[in-house]
Order: sequence, then structure tokens, then C-alpha cells
Amino acid sequence: MAIAHAIHPLVKLFKAVDISLFPPACPACQKRLNTEESFLCHDCQTSCLQQPTTYCPRCGHAHPATTKQNHLCSHCLTSSPPFNWLKAAGIYQGQLAELLQQFKFHHKTSLASPLADLILHQHQQAIDQFAADAIVPIPLHPQRLRERGYNQAQLIGQQLARHLNLPVNGSLVLRNRPTPPQSTLSLTQRMDNMRSVFYSPEARPSKILLIDDIATTTSTARACSRALTQRGHKVAVLVVARALPRH
Ligand SMILES: [Zn+2]
Ligand SMILES: [Zn+2]
Repeated sequence: MAIAHAIHPLVKLFKAVDISLFPPACPACQKRLNTEESFLCHDCQTSCLQQPTTYCPRCGHAHPATTKQNHLCSHCLTSSPPFNWLKAAGIYQGQLAELLQQFKFHHKTSLASPLADLILHQHQQAIDQFAADAIVPIPLHPQRLRERGYNQAQLIGQQLARHLNLPVNGSLVLRNRPTPPQSTLSLTQRMDNMRSVFYSPEARPSKILLIDDIATTTSTARACSRALTQRGHKVAVLVVARALPRH
């Protein structure tokens, strides 16, 4: 015990020397960070936070540049989404796509923190106005969780919860069955794939920030939100990146 205590300040000192001699690199471009940059370099942060010129205010779907701002997309016009809004830190392209690939498929779980920071940087005001009671990560089916070893939405949710001082509640919505990865399916198949996938047990109604890493057609976010709103919860959705659907 005494030895552990004696070593501790030395370890701290070595770490401090190490950081000042070899500052950490930007995980997106590998450039050494300067003292004002905490996770991503300034250029990568700016590139990751890009938003479409015009987009649907409810679901964040990118409109063609000629569409007027604040127009609902055809999806939201035909079927009102079960969430107040869905917001993304940026577009699934370039460095943000590269970071998410590393995070999701190459076990770079340390990226949860800078990715959550991007969401907060972009949407702090909307998050404050929504005044949530809890963070709910979109669940993975236990079988998929075993295969991947972690739920990427849960890791981002934990980082957001720490910054926002909110609890993470993973029991408010559950997955009934495993589904094929959405990325392998067409738009219509994605909607069918998600039908009755989520189940929300009875609980006191609350205001929920639902978290995922990527939204494409929003069919997962809609299905999960629907299960929650049917129990009387209010839902707003935060994702790291909004991908453009393939048709
Ligand atoms: Zn960079
Ligand atoms: Zn929309």
C-alpha cells in the first residue's frame, strides 16, 4: 500500500513530462495537438461539425441546397416523427466518417469522448432547452453486443451523461429480437426491419435524450422513439453523424 502511494506522484510526473514532450495526436489526421486543442485539431473539428446548407428541422434530413430553410422533409410530412427533433453533430463524410469507422469497427472506444464533445459543441443550446431527465442509448440486441463487445451508442451516452450530469437509463427500452445490419438493406427493407423491434416496459414518463452513433433513414430512431412515446415519454434524438440514405 505504502509503495503504491510512493509510486503514484512519480507516475504523474512521468505522464506530465510525456505529454509536454510528446503532445497527443489528433485521432483524425495524426497531427500533434497544440495547447488549445483538447481532442481533435482545430481543422478536423471544423470539418467534423459541418452541417448541410438546409435541412429538415425535425429529423435533420439534408435538403437540396435550393430548398427553403425550415421546410419539413417528405418523410416527416407524411408521418410525423415520434421525437421532438433529431440532431447530428455533423455529416457522415470525410474525417467524421473515418472517426466513426474507427470507433465502431476497430475497437477505438477512446473516441467516445471526442465524439460526444462534438455533439455538445454543436447542440448545447437545444439540449439545455429540452431539459432531459435521462440519457437512453439505442440498445443493441444482446447477441450483437456479444459479437461486438460494446454498444457504441452506450459509450457516447455515458460521455454525454457525465457532461450533462444526467443518469443513463438502459432499461427504458429493450430490443425484442436481433435485426440484420441496416446498412445492408434498402430504405423500404429498413422500415420493415425495424417494425416492433423495440419494447419499452412501463415506467414513470420522462424526457429522454435518445443516443445513437449514426442516423441514415432514421427508421431505427423512429422505431425506438415510438416504443418510448407509447409509454408517455418525450424523446429528442442526438447522433454523432447524419448519413445520406442510399436509394
Ligand atoms: Zn486533425
Ligand atoms: Zn424530416
